[in-house]
Amino acid sequence: MNNVNEKVVIVCAPSGSGKTSIVKYLLDSGLPLALSVSATSRTKRAQESDGKDYYFISADEFRARVANGEFLEWQEVYENQFYGTLLAELDRIWKAGNAVIFDVDVLGGLNIKKHFGDKALSVFIKPPTLECLRQRLLGRGTETPETLKKRLDKSEFELSFEDKFDKIILNDTLSVAQQEAYNLISGFLKQ
Ligand code: ADP
Ligand code: 5GP
Repeated sequence: MNNVNEKVVIVCAPSGSGKTSIVKYLLDSGLPLALSVSATSRTKRAQESDGKDYYFISADEFRARVANGEFLEWQEVYENQFYGTLLAELDRIWKAGNAVIFDVDVLGGLNIKKHFGDKALSVFIKPPTLECLRQRLLGRGTETPETLKKRLDKSEFELSFEDKFDKIILNDTLSVAQQEAYNLISGFLKQ
């Protein structure tokens, strides 16, 4: 039987690297994992739903809930766009017998790793090149020229942290990266 008790898996990557595609695959793979749904003050994208992809709240509500001690961690990932992990998410997921998987930014991920130590596996998803990242973000069709620039500027900063993660996965061919992530995480959950 898997020993998922209070374990966490942290997946980080520069925006556009394929993190969401890999996390979705893992969630559908039959592993005992459930996604920590973050709260955010950014605008909802057309295909996203509230409570599934994020809890979409205003910046004012976000600040109030920070002041109320409701977050394990939070970051202002982009200017005036807050993202954070609610403590209530962890209880909900562990009580259901699953390990928690986090899709968070690099600084948030490193903070969560520090908090959970050996109970956490931190994974960095790396794009082949920055140009490739730009093409993927353009292809996703979710960004304006301004948000594209913001995301690419931040990517260079995030790539400098890859060595601080337990494992690095290169996402060149998506199916290969998905399988590698599956193997790593299923091994970690069996430990
Ligand atoms: P992130 O969550 O890291 O921002 P996504 O999973 O949304 O990234 O991927 C960004 C875009 O790139 C999506 O349109 C996705 O379909 C595409 N993509 C992901 N991985 C690959 C890959 N290995 N090769 C080509 N396109 C990819
Ligand atoms: P997006 O706007 O593309 O959904 O997410 C932007 C960035 O915010 C991504 O790197 C994503 O992983 C990160 N993020 C999402 N939720 C959280 C969270 O709860 N905490 C932190 N620190 N980052 C988050």
